[in-house]
Amino acid sequence: TEPVLEIRNLNVEYGLGDQAVRAVRDVNLTLHRGEVLGLAGESGSGKSTLAYGMTRLLAPPGVISGGQVIYHPEQGDPYDVLELSDAGLRRFRWAETAIVFQGAMNSLNPVHKISTQLTDVLEAHEPRMSESSRLARAREMLKLVGIAPDRMDAYPHQLSGGMRQRVMIGMALILQPQVVIMDEPTTALDVVMQRQILGQLIELRERLGFSVIFITHDLSLLVEFSNRIAIMYGGRIVEEAPAASIYRDALHPYSQGLLGSFPALRGPRRELSGIPGSPPDLKGMPAGCSFHPRCPKAFDPCGANIPVLGRPATPDGGARSVACWLHPTAEPVG
Ligand code: SF4
Ligand code: MG
Repeated sequence: TEPVLEIRNLNVEYGLGDQAVRAVRDVNLTLHRGEVLGLAGESGSGKSTLAYGMTRLLAPPGVISGGQVIYHPEQGDPYDVLELSDAGLRRFRWAETAIVFQGAMNSLNPVHKISTQLTDVLEAHEPRMSESSRLARAREMLKLVGIAPDRMDAYPHQLSGGMRQRVMIGMALILQPQVVIMDEPTTALDVVMQRQILGQLIELRERLGFSVIFITHDLSLLVEFSNRIAIMYGGRIVEEAPAASIYRDALHPYSQGLLGSFPALRGPRRELSGIPGSPPDLKGMPAGCSFHPRCPKAFDPCGANIPVLGRPATPDGGARSVACWLHPTAEPVG
């Protein structure tokens, strides 16, 4: 299928000169039209930085130090998001790609009604739309995310956490973007609520036809809800594969460890083992494979040489990639 967003050799650093640390390293990742791409990894693995980088929402001292983010609009030629003007970027962010941030449900303005917050987005981006059409669109979006029209005039504190999260999703979808990025949008909610909201988002995607990048540390959610999964460690993508392949036979020892850290939603129970140790400090990234100090399978080359992400020699190798010395690869990615 066609790509909608292509991240090419993206690098993000925090700080300048000698003090700079690389939080995102040579990331290559493609989002295809209509798919749900899951991005997993422990906190500090670079997932959020990648999301902020590709939408140019990095706060200083974060800077993009290299790469391209090629966006394919529904009409017209593809362009590099990293080269957009400020005006182009404002349009891109809501109308082409919308983000629901970590803790977004707490970012609603407490002094404005829900309806006002939704119509404000329309007012800013579609100034020629009439007031009544704006209200109608806001009502429609809330209905889509399962909020009754009579809650339009509520203030955020009058809604539950789950409802506020739904409002945020409605707000992200109101300009009908092609891409919706969700950064751990549900961690503040209980597990049942998380699954409900995610399930609803997937259903909406089928009806409205957008693509999703879904970021979480909870791999079991991704296995259930995404088409493909990319796993990050130490700022790099270490494995990318169809969700079913990750679930059945993750190739990278880190992916295997992550899978063992969450209860499976379906199928046989796995024993939860977790991963010993903690993620590397960006300031002192281990040499070679940055996972080697924690890897139960580390061997000779691991401490000295960085494994390159590439297609492994497995039957479904064409659809997946891995960066690990256990899986020599023929064709590097990127
Ligand atoms: Fe483990 Fe070596 Fe593979 Fe890294 S390259 S994940 S240390 S086996
Ligand atoms: Mg994060």
